[in-house]
Amino acid sequence: MKQKSGPRVGIPRALFYYHFFPQWKRFFENLGWEVQVSPPTNKAIANEGIAEAVSEACFPVKVHYGHSLYLSRQGVDLIFAPRLISIERRSYICPKFMGIPDMLRAQIKSLPPLFDISIDLSQGSRHLNRQLRQWALETGLSPHQVEQAWQQAERETDYLNSICRAGFRLGEAIRIWEGHPMAKKGPAALNIGVLGHCYTLNDSFVNLNLFGRLQEMGVNAVTVEMADPDLVHKAADQLPKRVFWTVGRDLVGGALVYDRDPAIDGIIYMTCFGCGPDSMVAKVIERRMKKPFMLLTVDEHSGEAGLITRLEAFCDMLRRRRDRVEDNISPHGKFSYSH
Ligand code: SF4
Repeated sequence: MKQKSGPRVGIPRALFYYHFFPQWKRFFENLGWEVQVSPPTNKAIANEGIAEAVSEACFPVKVHYGHSLYLSRQGVDLIFAPRLISIERRSYICPKFMGIPDMLRAQIKSLPPLFDISIDLSQGSRHLNRQLRQWALETGLSPHQVEQAWQQAERETDYLNSICRAGFRLGEAIRIWEGHPMAKKGPAALNIGVLGHCYTLNDSFVNLNLFGRLQEMGVNAVTVEMADPDLVHKAADQLPKRVFWTVGRDLVGGALVYDRDPAIDGIIYMTCFGCGPDSMVAKVIERRMKKPFMLLTVDEHSGEAGLITRLEAFCDMLRRRRDRVEDNISPHGKFSYSH
């Protein structure tokens, strides 16, 4: 690819956009590039992704297809679609992330060039630096400039995480990072720990407006990014075997932290139908929880009505439990006890 002045790069608002958008945006801006993000997921984007993607793909991957298709029609010079393998030592990302660039190329005919560097930090930062240098040479940029641009941009992820720890979900933290003011939430009648992948929990089309519904029901929903990561990792390390998926490990640790936290009334885990890692991680969590736990599975066929019914029933049960309304009441009536 030849270097042009100020090319425009498209970043799909899907998958790890929610963890790394500020870093990726800053990286390209440091190089003098323009960044275009696809809009929040809507029916048209989702439907297009569902129609184009391989049928075995999970819903979030299909949604990523939809965003890439959207960007490919916007005349961007390239689409950022990294091959994410690992973002820390001894842990990995779901294998579907490795195949994203290949799946997009195979399925989408009108696709612009992809920026598909492999990010595999299980091999240390030298591997990533080699990838960046290689890309710099191909684009005619200075390898030193590209490495520097990446290193400076990494600070944005630390900043994003610090916003989350002040009590904001990743999607909200990105809005704050972009300069939109956001009020801190006040106390609520119920506190629920909500677990799930960032691209499920922060995409209100995928999660069927889960957090909006919970808010209407008087729930303060907390997510793992808000917790102290050391506490989360320490809790996850209590498992007899290390969870080698980065996200899975955080979810296990987060669940164990919520389970011990007296302020948390119950736990909801939202997963996507057909998710391989969650089929194991959600089971591990479910078996260990002592607090009320609800597993919600969504896919492209899910409807909001079913979700609302389950949330209402769960919150109702939590309220009764917290208010001790049902303690000591036998299901057979008050005279069924004999002393
Ligand atoms: S972790 Fe699950 S939901 Fe996420 S990309 Fe992999 S299979 Fe899909």
